[in-house]
Amino acid sequence: KHIETTGAETNYLVAENISKTYGSNMALTPLNLSLDKGELVTLLGPSGCGKTTLLRIVAGFNSPSTGRVLLAGRDLTPLPAAKRQMGMVFQAYSLFPNLTAQDNVRFGLKVSGVSAAESDRRLNKLFALIGLEEARGRYPHQLSGGQQQRVALARALAIEPQVLLLDEPLSALDAQVRLNLRDEIRRVQRETGTTTLFVTHDQEEALAISDRVVVMDRGRIAQLGTPEDIYRRPATPFVAEFVGTANGLDALATGDEQIEVPGWSAPVRVEGARQFARGERLRLYLRPEELRLSAGAGGLSGRVTDKRFLGSITRLSVQVGEHTLVADLQGNEAAAHPVGEAVSVTLSPLAAHVLRAGPAHP
Ligand code: ATP
Repeated sequence: KHIETTGAETNYLVAENISKTYGSNMALTPLNLSLDKGELVTLLGPSGCGKTTLLRIVAGFNSPSTGRVLLAGRDLTPLPAAKRQMGMVFQAYSLFPNLTAQDNVRFGLKVSGVSAAESDRRLNKLFALIGLEEARGRYPHQLSGGQQQRVALARALAIEPQVLLLDEPLSALDAQVRLNLRDEIRRVQRETGTTTLFVTHDQEEALAISDRVVVMDRGRIAQLGTPEDIYRRPATPFVAEFVGTANGLDALATGDEQIEVPGWSAPVRVEGARQFARGERLRLYLRPEELRLSAGAGGLSGRVTDKRFLGSITRLSVQVGEHTLVADLQGNEAAAHPVGEAVSVTLSPLAAHVLRAGPAHP
């Protein structure tokens, strides 16, 4: 019953040439993905991009149209879900309502034939790990949503799975609970060293929790990288816009280190602009947190049109030509620029990122 491993640390979990078609709809185009042992990788993308389909193929709930799923070099594709030694947590409401928290966690252990003594040992360890010792005897309806998801996580981990699969486990929870449990999942994942595939459509969640992020777009991998890569160096306009780099503008290459933004009085200098031929259509992305405003001249001339206090930052709207830019400033900087005031916007190298415009997949 036990799946033998080669002990490989890289390419531990591999989706090889996986595709899935439903009738004429290609939910996944042939794609490759591999996780190192102990890594947490997120599948991030909008509704319908294929992330759940990919997760379910890895889990063994769906069979792929082409390709294989390998774990430590072993082909799992013919194995049903129950034989894959993977733990799963779904969006919500997956606990057995007629069993206590403790019996929910014990359930999977009984099924896999773990001894009573070993079950008790694991239960103690898991309830300590999720910080819910006092709630062991409660039924799901006596637990909050966040507590229920902790129990679901403990249940998934009880079998000591080789892979943990999490399908939007936080999306049914309130904002604060969601943030806490996000950090909690990450901590538990690190402590147990469980190789994890996590599905979400929430970019902030993906950036915060992952070792690496897979951004998916219409059944393809648009980009695979560390959270910082994805945020700082988006590979396509789709990734830049989905991962929430606000301020996307149409622009034109000039053939040198500057680009032109229609409606702006002067071209702007942007790192990487030289690689594009004169006249090429581009997208310019400006990061709100890297824009600097000053009262004098020297940058782009604009005017503050709105200001919203968001706690740790203040978000300003700045009209530049026909564009409204979003600039996130610290409290003291923001205070210096009242609504209605003329400002000059400076683009540091970190603030701007330029990409070729057009379809993400030519
Ligand atoms: P969501 O976040 O909305 O669940 P997703 O990124 O997880 O979206 P999938 O559920 O994987 O996306 O769906 C990918 C595509 O496959 C969609 O076009 C969907 O309509 C289609 N699809 C998924 N399951 C089936 C099915 N059982 N039969 C037919 N089409 C399906």
